[in-house]
Amino acid sequence: MLKRLICAALAAALMLCAVPAEGWYFDAPGNFYPDGPVLEYSLEPSMDPRVIPALPESDLLAPMAIDYSSFPTFSTVEEAGRYWGDCVRDRKASFGVLITSHGEHENEVDWEKIANEYYTDIIYEGLKHTGEPDKGDYLRQIGGTYGGSLSYLVRSGTEGRREITKYIISYEPGYYYSTAEEEAQVGPLVDQLIDELGVRSDRISDYDKIAAVYGWITENIRYDYDTLNDDSYHTKHSAYAGIKNRTCVCSGYALLFYRIMLTLGIDCRYITGYTTGGYHAWNIVNLYGEYFLLDSTWDEGCETYSWFLLGTSSRFKERNNDSQFDAEDFKAAYNIPPCAYATHEAARLGPIAPSCVAEGSTGSGLCPECSVWLTAYSVPALGHDFSDGVCTRCKRVRPARGDLTEDGGVDVMDGVIMQRILSGIEGGIELCDFADLNLDGQADVMDGVIMQRMLAGLDT
Ligand SMILES: [Zn+2]
Ligand SMILES: [Zn+2]
Repeated sequence: MLKRLICAALAAALMLCAVPAEGWYFDAPGNFYPDGPVLEYSLEPSMDPRVIPALPESDLLAPMAIDYSSFPTFSTVEEAGRYWGDCVRDRKASFGVLITSHGEHENEVDWEKIANEYYTDIIYEGLKHTGEPDKGDYLRQIGGTYGGSLSYLVRSGTEGRREITKYIISYEPGYYYSTAEEEAQVGPLVDQLIDELGVRSDRISDYDKIAAVYGWITENIRYDYDTLNDDSYHTKHSAYAGIKNRTCVCSGYALLFYRIMLTLGIDCRYITGYTTGGYHAWNIVNLYGEYFLLDSTWDEGCETYSWFLLGTSSRFKERNNDSQFDAEDFKAAYNIPPCAYATHEAARLGPIAPSCVAEGSTGSGLCPECSVWLTAYSVPALGHDFSDGVCTRCKRVRPARGDLTEDGGVDVMDGVIMQRILSGIEGGIELCDFADLNLDGQADVMDGVIMQRMLAGLDT
């Protein structure tokens, strides 16, 4: 064993010495097996990327069919997958990666292994849910994104050295449901909507944020029956069509909900599967550590919801999830109780309502329906609701602008308090609200500037 280790170390040292600064793998054509085969690969857009089949060996082409001069090189599938995600997010028409693999290279190339370990795994990595609003599930249903081709080059095995294989993997998405230009509008439109709904603030509970967004989607977006059978109009599948045109099909509803939730920092997933009405998309969303099911498409236009924050024993059980959502690892990561949110939450004992200035608590308790112990979570303080300078709830009188000490005037002590707020030494929902001099929803450096101007007599 020790001998093997030493040999490996020697080999590594030799390699390091022998490596020129650049182009070790490809720049000297004589160093490679000539004309390794290329495998061309494409398939129809698939709802579930896990059904991508092994590449057919019959489609071998000449290697130079792929211009890989612009492909970045990665040594791990994870890095290559992130790059795949970036390219698809940016709606690139074609792109590719080079993946290096060190080790024995058999004469017989196991194409299926290459396909499964590299080609498809890179896609899975690229689709991984990371919490980034415009990646992860947001890329799962955006067009015919799984086409591409595959090739490889192998450095000739020199005695005493390990062989290096470099796989050339190119992706040529057939089409995207929305263009890069359209997608560039989605982020700003989502931000604008969040501001209109007034749900950006930390002082609003996750439940209220979810209810506001769900309410907006079901009230304002209409199912696109007009183009349902027009296969040439792809845009209807996109979140862009939902937020911009206010009409889309189910994937648009569910992708938009996913994107807005992640933008708000609330975890959410995009779920697909079969319903009595055919193939469909909906969501699960995190509330107090558990996940609940919702379907904004099927609650469209409804004042009383039928598909809002339900558990697994609800009408959702009539649906057949795609297998990945029934897998044990998924269920372990996303616990959905059998009961609906409303029933489940009613079991909490001793919840404390938040006040204007103090946070509350959900309380804890044993749900009688599913026997899950519900732990206590804090509920954000409400913040004052001033009307004509008096809080409608607690009757607190709002001090004059900039008078943080409430001594009847703006002086140097108010400047000191402002500095302490901005550096995080002093805070609290009420004081931060009073320090928000330009009323943009937060106490920040701009308010510090205004305070300086007030102290200098330049601003009243
Ligand atoms: Zn329960
Ligand atoms: Zn109040």
